[in-house]
Amino acid sequence: MNGSGDWFRRFAAKMSARLRNFMMGRYGTDRLNMVILSVGLVASLLSVILRFEPANLILFLLSYGMMFWAIFRSLSRNTYKRYQENRKFLQLWGRMKDREHRYFDCPKCRQMVRVPRGKGKISITCPRCREKFVKKS
Ligand SMILES: [Zn+2]
Repeated sequence: MNGSGDWFRRFAAKMSARLRNFMMGRYGTDRLNMVILSVGLVASLLSVILRFEPANLILFLLSYGMMFWAIFRSLSRNTYKRYQENRKFLQLWGRMKDREHRYFDCPKCRQMVRVPRGKGKISITCPRCREKFVKKS
C-alpha cells in the first residue's frame, strides 16, 4: 500500500537534489527580487482590470518584463553583481523611509553624508575627504 507514497517521496527527494544542483553557484532570491516580482504581480493584475488600450498592454508587458528580470537575477552566476544591486536597493529603500535625515553625496569623493532634516541651509563637511559644501536640509 505504501509503494506509491515511497515512490513519490523518492521522486521529490531526487527533484529537490536536482534543483539544489542546478542552483549551485547561482544567485537565488533576495529582497530586490521580491519587490520586482510584486511589481510584476500588481502590473499583471492591473492589466486584467484595466480594459483600455494601451494601458493594459503596457502593464502586461511590464509584468512579463519584471518576471523575466527576477528569473534572470535568481539564475545569474554573477552573484557579486546581484548582491551589489540588492545592497544599493536596500540603501535607497532605507533613505526613502528615513524621514528624519537627508542624504547627500559628497561632490568630491561621492561619500554618502547623512544630515538631520529641516535645519535650513547648512554647511556640511565630508567625513572622508573634508570637502565642505552647502546644502538645504
Ligand atoms: Zn568627500
